[in-house]
Amino acid sequence: MVGKVDHIGIAVANLDETLAFYTDILGMKLHGTETVAEQKVRVAFLPVGDTEIELLESTDPEGPIAKFIENKGQGIQHIAFKVDDIEAALAELKAKGVRLIDEKPRYGAGGAKIAFLHPKATNGVLVELCQRD
Ligand code: ZN
Repeated sequence: MVGKVDHIGIAVANLDETLAFYTDILGMKLHGTETVAEQKVRVAFLPVGDTEIELLESTDPEGPIAKFIENKGQGIQHIAFKVDDIEAALAELKAKGVRLIDEKPRYGAGGAKIAFLHPKATNGVLVELCQRD
């Protein structure tokens, strides 16, 4: 069902400060930043190999990333797997009785179609499916 690891999402308190570590210290290239209003985040993309690091900073104290940091601190927030057909993947998961956060795909950063599986269905990992056309 899933292909490669599309990206790893990391919750950060301060995007600009964190970016300096990835670019200046690790030598990664910033591919761009984007604000996704629906998810109340500002996102930075840093390609590495054939995957990407996605740094997520909350734009709202009530947003999901702010809540995540409040509960667990900064760190890895989700792992995203590439799928070719997200609707088909969601239908298959539903048929297998997997609890979903998103029954239908929504718009994610970079114009991707994304959907999250419920961490209770994945033994604690927030899994995202990601389709890029
Ligand atoms: Zn993501």
